Amino acid sequence: MTLKIPYEDQLHADTVAFLSAQPKQLLIGGRWTPSLSGKTFVTNEPSTGLPLAEVYEAQPEDVDLTVADARAAFEKWRKVTPYQRERLLHKLADLIEKHSQVLAEIETLDNGKPIGAALNIDVPSTVEMFRYYAGWPTKIEGGVKPVSIPNRLNYTLREPVGVVGTIIPWNFPLSMISWKLGPALAAGNCVILKPAEQTPLSAVYFCELAIQAGFPEGVISLLNGAGEVTGAALVAHPGVDKIAFTGSTEVGRLIMKAAAGNLKRVSLELGGKSPHIIFDDADLETAIPYAAGSIFGNAGQSCNAGSRLLVQRKVYEQVVEAVANSAMHIRVGVGMDVGTDMGPLTSLEHYQRVTRYIELGQQAGASVRFGAQRPSGVPQGGYFVSPTIFENTTDDMAVVREEIFGPVLVATVFDTLEEVAQRANNTPYGLAAGVWTRDISRAHQLAGMLAAGTVWVNCYYQFDPSSPFGGYKQSGFGRDMGHEALEQYLNTKSVWVGL
Ligand code: NAP
Ligand code: MG
Repeated sequence: MTLKIPYEDQLHADTVAFLSAQPKQLLIGGRWTPSLSGKTFVTNEPSTGLPLAEVYEAQPEDVDLTVADARAAFEKWRKVTPYQRERLLHKLADLIEKHSQVLAEIETLDNGKPIGAALNIDVPSTVEMFRYYAGWPTKIEGGVKPVSIPNRLNYTLREPVGVVGTIIPWNFPLSMISWKLGPALAAGNCVILKPAEQTPLSAVYFCELAIQAGFPEGVISLLNGAGEVTGAALVAHPGVDKIAFTGSTEVGRLIMKAAAGNLKRVSLELGGKSPHIIFDDADLETAIPYAAGSIFGNAGQSCNAGSRLLVQRKVYEQVVEAVANSAMHIRVGVGMDVGTDMGPLTSLEHYQRVTRYIELGQQAGASVRFGAQRPSGVPQGGYFVSPTIFENTTDDMAVVREEIFGPVLVATVFDTLEEVAQRANNTPYGLAAGVWTRDISRAHQLAGMLAAGTVWVNCYYQFDPSSPFGGYKQSGFGRDMGHEALEQYLNTKSVWVGL
């Protein structure tokens, strides 16, 4: 298939070269290869809806081959010293940093996000994550246990679980690679990566860099393809020891069931409908841009988006007016244009889903404070929606209860701390929450009362490789980042010695 490269004159020569070489292949046993069946799929450029690249689609027989190669590679990889693993991870981080511009352009073209965000957030946070985990291999230790049986020595060994399959979403493709591969590789596992079919490309470039860094054959494999085919085959495979997943709660449930076959370990980072709570004593000047940024950043396609804004009565009107004003000033446009604040949604299917929710909200009687129409001046065929704010909602409406995963905010008023805690927790999700107040006892009280894996007080959207992130309730279990994530890629062996 010959495809025209969109925005070609704005791209780095290496990006053009990368996009010109198609179809994109699978990485199996350290070799780039077509799928055995020759089957391919196409990924689109979201600002135009036009095809961007053709990619080989891994089928179950490709998954079988990959798992066999990864198992063989693991037997060698487990003998590589911790120091060597550190060196490889550092080298990989350096290469990602060196190729920042190309990676950012690939991410923008495939996902739709503004190039500034890709360049200043996605790529540097990926580098930082790999550097953080590069520090770990030489610090993973077992311990000597104070057992009370005479003449016995007992100690523990920390060992990699083996072959890890990781299935990631399309909202932050490159960062998600680092959240999973950082700890998995630091712990000494082999990894098979299955990106989302909407955004397969940055993973291909990433794997080219991993080969350059010197990772041995079969330690990192790449299987692009469809969730129900490639993903499902990986999850069901008896040769895979663990699945690390980020995506929807619905697919998370399917994965848990499918993993039962060989009782593989599972960690799930799923959806959210996070409350963002502003009390009337808050520093509003700081809180308001965070309230807007937490839902409109990445076009709302973040699992931790602050999608429910709860504002105390006295300042409700002032806050919502200011958030609507921020929404009005957001420049919605093409990701490759440097002036763009918010790009299109990532796929047509997702565009249809988000616009349907906007209709549902109106049909249910919510009032539109801002947005709910197609932005003007954007290319035909692109998946653009306006930042949208609903008011006068009730807590049982779909737009209040369900994860929309788009730039759609529901704003409501509250009176007391008890009321807001109860309403904030009145959701099947429990990923994150934000609290704004100058009253420190109220802040800490509420931090304790909220059923969420992350609580941000007088800030929002803070991530650091050292701080664990993950869900309560149906937002999943297990943690990304920190030593908590590392634990999930390690087994503990207890060794007894008769003296
Ligand atoms: P999704 O279906 O959960 O996709 C996430 C990943 O799982 C993708 O790589 C997908 O592959 C794969 N997958 C799908 N079905 C699978 C199966 N049966 N077995 C194994 N893997 C499977 O998410 P989506 O459809 O892209 O988005 C739907 C909703 O999920 C969003 O609107 C949002 O609410 C939520 N979501 C949450 C996050 C998050 O960060 N927590 C991220 C993305 C989406 P393919 O894409 O190739 O089919
Ligand atoms: Mg795409």
